[in-house]
Amino acid sequence: MAGRFEGKVAIVTGGASGIGRATSLRLASEGASVLVADRDEPMGTETVELIEAAGGTASFERVDVRSEESVAGMVATAVERYGGLDVAHNNAGVVDRVMRITEMAADRWDRMIATNLSSVFYCLKHEVPAMLERGGGAIVNTSSGAGLHGGAGLAHYSAAKHGVIGLTRSASDEFAREGVRVNAVCPGLVDTPLVQGSVFDVDFKADPSQIAEVVAWLLSDDSSWVSGQPIEVNGGGRG
Ligand code: NAD
Repeated sequence: MAGRFEGKVAIVTGGASGIGRATSLRLASEGASVLVADRDEPMGTETVELIEAAGGTASFERVDVRSEESVAGMVATAVERYGGLDVAHNNAGVVDRVMRITEMAADRWDRMIATNLSSVFYCLKHEVPAMLERGGGAIVNTSSGAGLHGGAGLAHYSAAKHGVIGLTRSASDEFAREGVRVNAVCPGLVDTPLVQGSVFDVDFKADPSQIAEVVAWLLSDDSSWVSGQPIEVNGGGRG
């Protein structure tokens, strides 16, 4: 199975579902060995089975991205199992019900920041050294259209996703010259379990594979001079 990721090792957090599953399938179809990392073991195992059925290489690793220790263990597993780390899609995330700031309990804020922002800090902190060991690499963090625009009722989500872009730019400033490029993808609405059946379940939405296409490009050498960029992928809509 030849492709842009032949001989490369990838981590995809949130790889059990939606966008992360699509990225896992895409990277594996182009030759990567993929560590499908998620807190959902049955769905994560299903992603691995889909990859193997298509002739690719993957395995599941249980991770809770809110825990630095768990994230460090995930990176160590990729290195031990596959010999190193080349690319990563830091993508696991959650949404919450719509609520105004004045109605938002502090623990809801804290949970959102832990899952959607601190997680990306932990991933960067532990992935970059493993990539530098191999002479470089590429990382894509999943932000959102809500990381570029505000969202009434989504303040904690929007703030976390803005934070992901700040982390992306700072990490790029720190490591791009050493060979680790760091970009963010900012999807509009995408047809995944995250939005299905919610108030965000509108007609104009992407298939997860349309986001995976852009992530794969950003992780590949085809985008070798692109770093520190939030790339909006919304079909020209806004979400
Ligand atoms: P999804 O619910 O299909 O997938 C999210 C995955 O993250 C799930 O497999 C879930 O188990 C995992 N996850 C959640 N918390 C975790 C934790 N603490 N530790 C480990 N794994 C955890 O949703 P999706 O739409 O594919 O979302 C992926 C990313 O895309 C998220 O960061 C989301 O905010 C972002 N996003 C989604 C949309 C959309 O419209 N679907 C739009 C913009 C951004």
